[in-house]
Amino acid sequence: MATFLFDQIIFGPIKSRRLGVSLGVNLLPTDTKVCSFDCIYCECGWTPRSRTQKAILPPRTIVKQKLEEKLTEMFAKNELPDVITFAGNGEPTLHPEFEGIIDDTIELRNLLAPSAKIAVLSNGTMLHKPAVVRALLKIEDNIQKLDSAFDETIRKIDCPASNYSLKDVVKNLKSFKGKVIIQTLFVKGIFKDQIIDNTTEDEVSEWLKLIQEIKPSQVMIYTIDRDTPATGLEKVKLETMQSIGERVKAIGCEVQVSG
Ligand code: SF4
Repeated sequence: MATFLFDQIIFGPIKSRRLGVSLGVNLLPTDTKVCSFDCIYCECGWTPRSRTQKAILPPRTIVKQKLEEKLTEMFAKNELPDVITFAGNGEPTLHPEFEGIIDDTIELRNLLAPSAKIAVLSNGTMLHKPAVVRALLKIEDNIQKLDSAFDETIRKIDCPASNYSLKDVVKNLKSFKGKVIIQTLFVKGIFKDQIIDNTTEDEVSEWLKLIQEIKPSQVMIYTIDRDTPATGLEKVKLETMQSIGERVKAIGCEVQVSG
C-alpha cells in the first residue's frame, strides 16, 4: 500500500488531527526510515532490515538553519504554527545531537514563534539515555507511544528491536512524574495469520492499569487513518474509541480521542 517518506528536514505546516497547525521536523534521513520499531501501521512503511549504505542524519547546524529559515518565512506572513513537532521518518530521539537540537528549537521558538509549543512524538525506546530525558523535560508536549500493556501484543503490533523491554519503558515513563503524554494507536485485523486486536477487554483493562501507574498529563488515542505497510488492518470504530476514551476519563485522566 502507499506509505510515504518525508522528503525534507522541515515539512508542512500540516493540520494535525491531534496537535493543530503543526510544523514538522524530521531528524531522520529524507530517503529512508530509521526506527527502533517496525510498526505494522507505520505511515512511513517498513523499517529496512539491512542497509547497503549507512543512513545519514541531518547535522544539528543544518536543522537549526532550515528551521530558522522556515520560521522566519512564516513569521513574515503572520502564519505561525501552533506547534513545532519532531516526527518524520522514524524515531527522532535516535539522533545523537537530539538534546542540542531541542535547545536550538527552544531558542528559535522563543525568538520567532513564542506561542508555539514544541512536541516530540517518540516510541520511548531511548529513555534510558539521560540526554534524551533531559531534552524531553524541556519541551511542552513529550508524547510517548504505548500501544499495549502486553509484551506479546507490542511485539505483534510495533515489532521492536530484540532488546525491547516493556517493563523498562514503563519504569522510564513513570519517571517523568506526569510530564508526559501517552499516545496509543488502537487497531484490529489479521497480520501474518495472527489476530491483531488491542481493543479487547483484557487489553484495555491492563492498559488502563498502566495509565494509572504512569499518571500522564494526557492520553491521546487514535486509530489508523492512512495506508499502512501491512495489509489486513482495519480502523477501530468510533464508538469503540469513544468508549475507551470514557474509561480513561473515569480514571481521572484527560483524554483526546481521534477516530
Ligand atoms: S515508532 Fe513511529 S516511526 Fe517508528 S515504526 Fe512505529 S509508527 Fe513508524
